[in-house]
Amino acid sequence: MSILVTGGAGFIGSHLVDHLLAETDYRVVVLDDFSTGSASNLAHLDTDRLETIDGDVRDESLVAKLVSGADAVYHLAAAVGVKTIVENPLDSMQTNLEGTKNVLEAAAASDSTPTFVASSSEVYGKSEPVPFAEGDDRVYGSTTSQRWGYATAKAADEFLALGFHAERDLPVVIGRYFNIVGPRQTGQYGMVIPTFVEQALAGDDLTVYGDGTQTRSFTHVEDAVSITHDLLTTPDGHGEVFNVGAPDPTSINDLAKRVIELTGSDSEITHVPFAEAYDEDFEEPDEREPDVSKLHDALGRAPTADLDWILR
Ligand code: NAD
Repeated sequence: MSILVTGGAGFIGSHLVDHLLAETDYRVVVLDDFSTGSASNLAHLDTDRLETIDGDVRDESLVAKLVSGADAVYHLAAAVGVKTIVENPLDSMQTNLEGTKNVLEAAAASDSTPTFVASSSEVYGKSEPVPFAEGDDRVYGSTTSQRWGYATAKAADEFLALGFHAERDLPVVIGRYFNIVGPRQTGQYGMVIPTFVEQALAGDDLTVYGDGTQTRSFTHVEDAVSITHDLLTTPDGHGEVFNVGAPDPTSINDLAKRVIELTGSDSEITHVPFAEAYDEDFEEPDEREPDVSKLHDALGRAPTADLDWILR
């Protein structure tokens, strides 16, 4: 009995591997190309129940082989991080679309292997008002929600997954992650909490893009992976999309202040225009907050870790 985790050497994927090894008796097979993931994320796991394959999720025959040997699949491999995506937009979209297509095809061909697909709160685009609910027209129906290539690819992945459920009875669940944070996340690809913490510890200014009033819902990775596991093992959730996020948003200015307080740093906060991080035409959404009532109905819970605990 084994579970395949694509992107299992990444930040969320490696925590999911920890969780699956601890909570189940399954073997876990990781498929990862180590582009943003790292072997060090799995180095603490000294077990023969873990196998790591260095390969590309765009490799159709490799994915078909690995999925055919698995009893469940968690598909997390994707090109992620602002820097990666802004520097290689088409390549990133290709990884995210083709990888998901390969996984879904293989899962449907292998006796309908239950499959979790990692999506993102980015699919809601730059839209208002919050909170965002799964059934909102703004994801699939709206042409006004400003979205970038990464988010468009994730929305297309969702369409594809729901199509496989409707047409080929694939037991698939989609989780829209909202700013997942915690140990092993690096600031290297533009993630805000590790970036702020690294800046504060070094005594450098904390760089806030825009005016800093934009809000985000930070969700601890351990909450996210246990919910991910429970969603796939709850048959009622198959064919459904769920927000996976904490319902308490924080502004980026407040986040920066709190990081400075908790680290006891002398750092200051500097505001720089979005254009320094993105191309001229793109602005991040002002607010991002999940409606978690659907998650509550399905699992009886939603992420709860508070920000101070996450930061510490
Ligand atoms: P991550 O970069 O740590 O994980 C992605 C993993 O996929 C990495 O290990 C990377 O090496 C691997 N990968 C990339 N391209 C690959 C390819 N072609 N073949 C095989 N492996 C490949 O990032 P993460 O934050 O852990 O993200 C995991 C998933 O969650 C992604 O699908 C991401 O889009 C989604 N997500 C994350 C967040 C968040 O807040 N961290 C928010 C929304 C969605």
